[in-house]
Amino acid sequence: MSARTGLGYDCHRFTAGRRLVLGGVEVEHERGLAGHSDADVLSHAIIDALLGAAALGDIGQHFPDTDERYRGADSLELLRVTLRLLDQHGFSVVNVDATVIIERPKLSPYRDAIRASLARALGLAVDAVSVKATRGEGMGFVGREEGAAALALATVTQ
Ligand code: MG
Repeated sequence: MSARTGLGYDCHRFTAGRRLVLGGVEVEHERGLAGHSDADVLSHAIIDALLGAAALGDIGQHFPDTDERYRGADSLELLRVTLRLLDQHGFSVVNVDATVIIERPKLSPYRDAIRASLARALGLAVDAVSVKATRGEGMGFVGREEGAAALALATVTQ
């Protein structure tokens, strides 16, 4: 059995009139993230980390934003589809560690719900799913609240 690790990154722009969804959990905020799907930047980073660990391409290749099937898509469903793909290639997920880079709102009140939501979708114990958050300290697109980003690492075994 060999272990492999993958990296994922994503960012989305804030826009009015959208829900803010992170790890499948709706977070209260005056704006949400723009995107073809539900723009769940955290789930997207995790999907890319999983695909990266398995060397199976990237999210844009599997779920193109030109495909009407994915308009408004629930990104947790995309995560479950990704898991099935890994499973078909003999990979199982060991753990996921992610950081959301967002100026506001504070995610600490949501952290446990987000971890539980992702753990359910990933078929992992909650203690195998780590979600952290950090601010942009006023710098860059995150600091100016133009958007939010997420980084994720995933380890799989085959
Ligand atoms: Mg995305």
